[in-house]
Amino acid sequence: MSEREQVKLTETRRKLHALEPGGSEDHPVEVVSSSVIEPHARGLACARCGPELRIVDQAAFVKGAHVRRRVTLRCARCGDARVAHYVIVQPLLQ
Ligand SMILES: [Zn+2]
Repeated sequence: MSEREQVKLTETRRKLHALEPGGSEDHPVEVVSSSVIEPHARGLACARCGPELRIVDQAAFVKGAHVRRRVTLRCARCGDARVAHYVIVQPLLQ
């Protein structure tokens, strides 16, 4: 594969990642507990070379009725960054 094709493929993967749950603030991954966020985020793949992502930053904030979490990941191999969005949805008490 040429370098140009590789760049194109990376861009395509990046766009697909943005459409996946968690790929944007408007489409966060819904979780019931913050404890599942880190394992989920570490399972995400690098757009360039594969599943070598490390969590480098986490930010929690409240939006609407829920706590949101924004996780920044960086690839251990190529340094590419990826951001994942989560919303913690508590089961309703009845
Ligand atoms: Zn990478």
